[in-house]
Amino acid sequence: MSPSRPTQVRPFEIHRGIYMVGGPEMTDGRDGCVYLLDFKELILIDSGAGWSVDQIEENIRLLGFNCSRLTKVILTHCHIDHAGGAPLLRSRYGSQLCIHELDAIPLESGDSKRTAATWYQTTFPPTPVDVRLRSPDDTIRIGNEKIICLHTPGHTPGSISVYLDRDGKRILFAQDLHGPLLKEFGSDFDDWDQSTQKLLDLQADILCEGHFGIYGSKREVKEYILSYRRHYGVA
Ligand SMILES: [Zn+2]
Ligand SMILES: [Zn+2]
Repeated sequence: MSPSRPTQVRPFEIHRGIYMVGGPEMTDGRDGCVYLLDFKELILIDSGAGWSVDQIEENIRLLGFNCSRLTKVILTHCHIDHAGGAPLLRSRYGSQLCIHELDAIPLESGDSKRTAATWYQTTFPPTPVDVRLRSPDDTIRIGNEKIICLHTPGHTPGSISVYLDRDGKRILFAQDLHGPLLKEFGSDFDDWDQSTQKLLDLQADILCEGHFGIYGSKREVKEYILSYRRHYGVA
């Protein structure tokens, strides 16, 4: 497959200490959006599809950070457009891969179907997971900061949505809540219905989405989630 041509969108700050460093418009057309948190440690939320790790690293450096501080990569789910860069980041920086235990299984076994690698005409290398998220709302603490990993199954059994509160704003990272809901991904419609309701209940101020970028107001976030609930006939 020929690599998609990245455009000129440069990495940018979304909110204090929170950046976009990768995505379809920024690093590779096959990448889901990649977000960076600078909370004493550097933490990535998702890692792109795997072909653009060098560009993601370059973007982190452009923002003035040293990739050697990259301690964790939180994966919102096991699909390659979000998790494909994780094996290389882990081997280069020793970053811990954090993912819900149900989506850890396809990563560790290198399941090409469940990781959607077959959609991208490639395979997924069996990849060890360092932190298995288990509870409905696991919290990763960095100093005073709390990063909450909410289990939001639906698109995949181990999908999570990440949120945190900073400067009076609630920032939500919710990837692929738009679906698709497919048997081969282990999708579950009733789970999806409950999960999207949970996301609405969070009343987030900013949504950092997985493919379409940033929704910057409470109203826009709500409308985005509701639009998919209407699409699937539950709102
Ligand atoms: Zn997905
Ligand atoms: Zn995706």
